[in-house]
Amino acid sequence: MSRNLIFNNALVLRVRPFGEANREAAFLTAEEGVVNAAVFGGPKSKLRAAVSPFHQGVLYLYYNPVKDSRKAVDFDVKIWRPGLRENFGRAMAAGAVSGTVSATHAGGGDWSRSLELASDSLSALETADEGACARIFVHFLWNWLDLIGEKPSLSHCAVCGLTLENGAVFSPWERALVCPACGDNTRSAVSLVLGPGAYRWLSVTENLPPSQLGRWSLDAVSLAQARTVVTGMMALVMGKRLNIWDF
Ligand SMILES: [Zn+2]
Repeated sequence: MSRNLIFNNALVLRVRPFGEANREAAFLTAEEGVVNAAVFGGPKSKLRAAVSPFHQGVLYLYYNPVKDSRKAVDFDVKIWRPGLRENFGRAMAAGAVSGTVSATHAGGGDWSRSLELASDSLSALETADEGACARIFVHFLWNWLDLIGEKPSLSHCAVCGLTLENGAVFSPWERALVCPACGDNTRSAVSLVLGPGAYRWLSVTENLPPSQLGRWSLDAVSLAQARTVVTGMMALVMGKRLNIWDF
């Protein structure tokens, strides 16, 4: 195995303390999914400043086969995303995106698509206002469900086969969307209803890039419904609910 590794497009997902003065960073890469590497250097180190959450660029790693460890040698940042630090809501939404990527091991397969979705969502968040942050996050999570093969069909009721048009209910037992009539018969204690506004918004925006979400408005009630259903689905898939989703 080569000792020097280059990842042409690496996104910093998180950085945490490691040892006394050093850090460990997790990167999302198209080649290997999540890649962890030690980042040596004190507070004034150029490398340490470059390896910050949401920065994206060319990553140079050294692999030590004896210790089976990797350390970052250089990180040539191409996208800085300073706008994510200017606003609390954007930072929280960005953390929810990167935390979901980490917790699901980058989606587990098509890593170039994982990287594209995470990267596009973070770039859209850079200029987003409060309401747009939540919409971009819900859109990200819905598409992330698709990426991991868990996105339910929006077109037909999973129980009776009726075409869904004006809303749906998520059934945890079916792990699918059902029509309102079949939804009345589910034994769900939690209300996982997608009203007409939330249902239509998911349908028209699911294939749009995150940067174009501003073209479709969504009222507060519908946004809350979409958010409850989409985070509920993801919690079911993961077997736990991440508190970073509740920003
Ligand atoms: Zn039905």
